[in-house]
Amino acid sequence: MARCTELADGGDRRSGHVTHATQRANRPGRVTVGAVTASLRPTCPCGSGEAYDACCGRLHRGAAQAETAEELMRSRYAAFAVGDAAYLWRTWHPRTRPDDLELDTSRTWTGLRVLGSGEDWVQFVASYDSPAGPGEQSERSRFERRAGRWVYVDGETPGSD
Ligand SMILES: [Zn+2]
Repeated sequence: MARCTELADGGDRRSGHVTHATQRANRPGRVTVGAVTASLRPTCPCGSGEAYDACCGRLHRGAAQAETAEELMRSRYAAFAVGDAAYLWRTWHPRTRPDDLELDTSRTWTGLRVLGSGEDWVQFVASYDSPAGPGEQSERSRFERRAGRWVYVDGETPGSD
């Protein structure tokens, strides 16, 4: 049997083992061409490890409310990552939010680390890629509960003292 290996070179002797199976792959029923839609986004950008739809996607759609400041913060980071400016605007305190919110689309958010949180604050580092190279944004955000809903008030860069 050891000599059979030489047949791989296309040798002409006793080629009874040549298989004709290579043409089988293209059966139409199995072809999975096509769109994987945004709703099938596998994991949430906030880094929870859960599916986007089951995590911050619920909040973005308005199907659920953030129950803690940290949950709101994570969902706001995820909104930056998926480009949901409307969600960012409506979870921003009316006193401090900009009149008009435009996202910097040249920035791709790549990760979130929550360093600490309390009842109404969250400290985090968010990383991004941009045409100028990768960077990080550190912030200690403050939140407030208004009519039962958490909203973002403002933030400061920590560690500058
Ligand atoms: Zn999430």
